[in-house]
Amino acid sequence: MVPAPMQDGAAGRHVLVVEDDPGLRTAIARFLENEGFRVSAAADGRAGLALAVASLPDLVVSDVAMPHVDGHQLLAELRGNPATEAIPVIFLSARTSDADVRTGMDLGADDYVPKPFRKADLLRAVRARLKRREATEAEFRRRMERQPGARPPDEGQQRLEAGIRAALRDDAFALHYQPKVAIRGRLLVGAEALIRWPRADGGFVPPAEFIPVAEATDLIIDVGNWVLRCAMLQVAAWEKGGIEPPHVAVNVSARQLESADFIPGLQRLAAEAGVATGRVQLEVTETSVARDMARAAAVLTAARDLGFTIALDDFGTGYSSLGHLNRLPLDELKLDRSFVVDMPVSARARSIARAVVEMAHRMELVVVAEGVETREQLAVLEELGCDVGQGYLFSKPITVDEMEARCRLADWG
Ligand code: C2E
Ligand code: CA
Ligand code: CA
Repeated sequence: MVPAPMQDGAAGRHVLVVEDDPGLRTAIARFLENEGFRVSAAADGRAGLALAVASLPDLVVSDVAMPHVDGHQLLAELRGNPATEAIPVIFLSARTSDADVRTGMDLGADDYVPKPFRKADLLRAVRARLKRREATEAEFRRRMERQPGARPPDEGQQRLEAGIRAALRDDAFALHYQPKVAIRGRLLVGAEALIRWPRADGGFVPPAEFIPVAEATDLIIDVGNWVLRCAMLQVAAWEKGGIEPPHVAVNVSARQLESADFIPGLQRLAAEAGVATGRVQLEVTETSVARDMARAAAVLTAARDLGFTIALDDFGTGYSSLGHLNRLPLDELKLDRSFVVDMPVSARARSIARAVVEMAHRMELVVVAEGVETREQLAVLEELGCDVGQGYLFSKPITVDEMEARCRLADWG
């Protein structure tokens, strides 16, 4: 064979051709080979899928109408498999009915070449797709080099990242505080600091939307430090004013715990704010410590040695394991809201909660119920011996001013 001409995007790129018409299949394969591509071919959708999974081609060119597994089914299967989801697919379709095109586009087809087509049309579509793919791959590599372990972010995520950076720069975040109330005696025992990102329309970007984006990058370290500094300054101010929740809890993410500067940073921030470390609690989730339990335990022990107290957040979701309780230096266990919701209606939820409360008490942990919304839930929690409640029944997360007003009223009934 004559050496393949080195066309841009062609050299060595692997194209899988799926076409049930043997004459057309051979013609397309020969033509693309002559243009410098590496070509494999399959006679139907099922064989095409098997070949695609086994060989991970750079591009699939597929007929739409085929017996058994047709082009649309093939595409759906490819998109449903993480290994093949990003492989571009070009459809060859005899009757490009609007409905056909729409179905294919909905499934994520990248292009359509109507049959009968000229060689140049097919080549143009193939080249364009491969070029797009190369650009995406190059961008992906650039980002991977900057931050190992990351996936290529989509556009919305990039916008959020830029927004978070701007909010940090402009000091646009705020903290709201949600009271924690002793179930016996209804006294304020603390507050959880929850980050708020005000939007122009007066609402807030929900933390559940932007915290995961910050957590996917090192941005969470800056956000986390902002939260720690702001909460510590608030505790110090409250201490001066004599109206204070006994402690303020701050949510801490996995990457913060993993950062070498976490413990020195805590020490520095507490010294700068002039706050007693015993007034600040760090909330970690099982998910955030499970990645490297030994290291997390060591870091949390160091924090505790500095005087901070430690709470295990969202207990009862995902990774819940009694082993974690034993290995971590903990002061408080926060029962997840999902537990609390079920309690009045489910005997099973009650008996699990009862066992957890008893065991936590034997380990001298304070047990906090999250998301307490109703008197019925509160009654069950009281009966189980749960120590502290947090939830809309007592108060939503509120501003500093509102918190101070509520403290003056001293009414947590
Ligand atoms: P979380 O730590 O479990 O915080 C409790 C969430 O439950 C808060 O949502 C709070 O507003 C909500 N909540 C409290 N009481 C009730 C209730 O009675 N009913 C219901 N349905 N919900 C209640 P928020 O403020 O939207 O925060 C969501 C999550 O975002 C937090 O869950 C936490 O994982 C994360 N987050 C918030 N602030 C920070 C932060 O400063 N740093 C980090 N790393 N994560 C944060
Ligand atoms: Ca929390
Ligand atoms: Ca929680």
